[in-house]
Amino acid sequence: KKLSIGILFGGRSSEHEASLASAASVLKHLKQDKFDLVPIGITQTGQWMTQTTPYELQQQMAVTTQIIDADMQESTQHTIVVDTPAPSSPLMQHPLSSVAPKVDVIFPLLHGTYGEDGKLQGLLEMIGIPYVGCGVLGGAISMDKEKTKQILRAAGLPVVDYKSYRRAELERNPEKVLDDIEKNFDYPCFVKPSNGGSSIGVSKVRSREELRQAAYLAANYDHKILIEKAIECREVECAILGNEDLQASVVGEVIIRDECDFYDYHAKYVEPSTKIIPALISDDLALEIQEQSIKAFRALDLTSLARFDFFLEKDTHNIYINEVNTLPSFTEDCMYPKLCEASGLAYPDLLERLIELAVESYEDRQ
Ligand code: ADP
Ligand code: MG
Ligand code: MG
Repeated sequence: KKLSIGILFGGRSSEHEASLASAASVLKHLKQDKFDLVPIGITQTGQWMTQTTPYELQQQMAVTTQIIDADMQESTQHTIVVDTPAPSSPLMQHPLSSVAPKVDVIFPLLHGTYGEDGKLQGLLEMIGIPYVGCGVLGGAISMDKEKTKQILRAAGLPVVDYKSYRRAELERNPEKVLDDIEKNFDYPCFVKPSNGGSSIGVSKVRSREELRQAAYLAANYDHKILIEKAIECREVECAILGNEDLQASVVGEVIIRDECDFYDYHAKYVEPSTKIIPALISDDLALEIQEQSIKAFRALDLTSLARFDFFLEKDTHNIYINEVNTLPSFTEDCMYPKLCEASGLAYPDLLERLIELAVESYEDRQ
């Protein structure tokens, strides 16, 4: 019997668009002789739709974007009509409850909040469906850049100097917050929402005025903002796959073009930056990055997959773990699948492996 896979995409986070692209790729490449695909879209306002594709959801939202490509149109062919019973109670209005009996595993291609942060995982635990990715705790911690740093630091792993501020304190007394930041950090420094992704709301600032703007921008996305020391660095990434026996991929590097201030949204999705796999770094350094990624994966209580992003400081060659993404961007050209491919696992096989790991970790949690 074929396993039926619910593909969740879209969603309420600022990374809605990136999610559509990830889902289109997965729908296209999941092996159709082994799996039945059930696409489930979530609009930006949080409505669940069971008869849609990433392309249709994108059209319906009438959002213009350059990341939507032919793949999405092709994925229309995978549309599976799921009959949704008439809602009989508030819970039944939730499409998952109507498709749940027909779905064996959920593959959430939802990046950011309400998808990567443990909330969806909690819902799926409640209704008892295995899902790809880590559980509630690992997702919730990893989505919060402050909590991630606290745990990594406690595990003896290197993180960049940072300080966090609550949105409420910024709103109540902005000058006091700005004074405190200026006391603790030199310019340039980075300002970001603690729970962000895809570089949305991230700024590199060089003056108090820029700092003020950036702090308010970041506070639009989260109730907590982080200030970090700016590291002059190369950016390298490592993919981890597994539950018990973890495999660390080769290390890859993102080459950020000179005209880009940092690895921002534009450099990620609009004019994607070149990736070099494997990164041109020494074997010793690559090994250290792989070992630290595995240590961090354990420290953060993760399962299935995660991408660890590192800064390699230019002058000192120090490494720092910048952040972890538990549902990294997932089109076939994105770093996580590329790293796995370079380590011997082709994209369709990776998707299949993730579904196996989902079932395995679900059983392990019971
Ligand atoms: P996101 O989860 O949105 O990707 P990141 O924390 O990874 O957020 O920040 C996005 C990008 O901003 C990084 O890839 C890097 O280019 C730049 N950046 C963020 N923090 C720093 C820092 N402390 N020093 C140097 N560059 C940084
Ligand atoms: Mg991120
Ligand atoms: Mg990042």
